[in-house]
Amino acid sequence: MSEQRIIHGVVASVGTAIGKAVRTFDPLFVSFNFKLRPDQVRKEVERFRGSVEKSREQLKRMQNELKRKTGPESSFLIDAHLLVLQDRLFVDRIVEKIETEYINSEWAIQQVSDDLFQAYDRLNDEYLRERRGDLDDIVRRLLHNLQAKPLPSFKKLSYDAILIGKVVPPSTLFDLRSHRIVGLATETGSPLSHTAIMARSLEIPAVVGAAELAEVTSGDPLIVDGERGVVIWMPSAETLAQYKSHDRDGRKLKKKPGISASAPSVTEDQVQVSLGANINFSEEVRAAIGYGCESIGLYRTEFDFFREGKQPDEESLVADYSLVLNSAKGAPVTFRTIDVGLDKSWDGVNMSPGVRGLRFCLENPEIFKKQLRSLYRASVNGPTRILLPFASTIDDLDAAQEIIADVRRELDLRRQPYDRHVPIGVMIETPAAAQTCDLLASRVDFFCLGTNDLIQYYLVIDRSDQSVVHLYNPFHPAILRCLHQVYTLLRPTGKPVTVCGEMAADPPSAAVLLGLGFTSLSVSLAAYPRIKRMIRSVSMGQLRELAGQILKMQKPKEVEEKVRAAVYRT
Ligand code: PEP
Ligand code: MG
Repeated sequence: MSEQRIIHGVVASVGTAIGKAVRTFDPLFVSFNFKLRPDQVRKEVERFRGSVEKSREQLKRMQNELKRKTGPESSFLIDAHLLVLQDRLFVDRIVEKIETEYINSEWAIQQVSDDLFQAYDRLNDEYLRERRGDLDDIVRRLLHNLQAKPLPSFKKLSYDAILIGKVVPPSTLFDLRSHRIVGLATETGSPLSHTAIMARSLEIPAVVGAAELAEVTSGDPLIVDGERGVVIWMPSAETLAQYKSHDRDGRKLKKKPGISASAPSVTEDQVQVSLGANINFSEEVRAAIGYGCESIGLYRTEFDFFREGKQPDEESLVADYSLVLNSAKGAPVTFRTIDVGLDKSWDGVNMSPGVRGLRFCLENPEIFKKQLRSLYRASVNGPTRILLPFASTIDDLDAAQEIIADVRRELDLRRQPYDRHVPIGVMIETPAAAQTCDLLASRVDFFCLGTNDLIQYYLVIDRSDQSVVHLYNPFHPAILRCLHQVYTLLRPTGKPVTVCGEMAADPPSAAVLLGLGFTSLSVSLAAYPRIKRMIRSVSMGQLRELAGQILKMQKPKEVEEKVRAAVYRT
């Protein structure tokens, strides 16, 4: 066995996890690589051959259709793909790998295609190099067809697994949550990415930006240390023993009653703070209500919307949203309409950085209308709020309100009951929205302040890029001034605002928000107890004074030190 190695990364979700590496290799497909038991090999070869057969049938069908529509000339393109499927260098080598190395089809396909890709790249002939694309297409088709028929035993791994990869999209992490995935480690990414947010909400310890993970293969023993931000590769017996006992202590601590769920969120000087929960998928509602959360301040609906890798139909959306509202037992739920983004990509969805949130919905009105109809129809089950993400102009809001009016008219025509007073809100998460929130106020009933994107766009950084994440700083004077301005502009409008970005989830930066006047916060369940504890331990009077002082300060570091000293009373 080789020596233990420490791989450095950054904490994305706290906690420690011990398991074997399982590598995802194509983020578009939820396929991962692992070793088979000898008795699984025959079934796995059958599964692979089934996928080859299915691919062949699909291509033949496509070829016939092409012949009918365009004549024989263009159908030869499909021949190239069919030839790959007959190529012994390709298919037989994959089967051989499964049989001799005991690896699953996805992994075998990856290894064989990687070799062939490299061979193509070395070719001098331009035309032949272009054939690389045919192979790429076939690989994707095979993977897709494999996914449609997973081996039953793959539903759940037989051991605790640490999911590793260059990137692991949040949807993949979500899809695999019940597969005994106990930890996550990625070569790239940052703690502000949606994958990290997802890991925290699933309470999966995670380390990101650990570049040297590239050398780790499926099956290698790993420890993810989400306290120190490291991954331990091939841990020694001594290290394993240490972590196992730490793990036991951690579990005991988790069982200890924390702060009482029913303890009110009031400051020492008796100022009431509203504390809601951010959730990313519908199953979290029950836990949130069990915790004593008074509202769901942000439900990021995109994760559930694209859960199956395809679009849900209206009836199933109505059923899901009704279940969410019923499980919330009267607590208001803020449903944010789907917000696709660069790191929240789904197959078939346009991922340009300029087409996010409401912009995507306005460009895809059928998707938007379907979701709105479903939300309105579900609204008879409990207090519903609809939140529009990523708006930057009044025109965006006018266009959205027009679509909302259309949807309501349609439901009236269908005589379908719905709550006619569902409040409509908008996220303030672009600099444009922050500067003009008083103008946007004329079009909406409430606001949510999304500090994750706001800080990213204000400080010109990429929240999913670890190399610039140190520049992400909620204590930057530009951010403090921006937040102060938002509060000042919104106050005369009387429209409520809730802060739901990660700034509200860290006690010192959340204390700054309170001091600046924001008395409604919404945080993930993992952060809920610590933020409630912070609220109950501070004086609003003192925080207001502190906010006045930090607004005059020049350096983020000094601001942070001052705030930390006040919150932790050091
Ligand atoms: C935000 O931008 O702060 C926010 C809450 O939205 P998301 O993290 O989903 O982009
Ligand atoms: Mg956002």
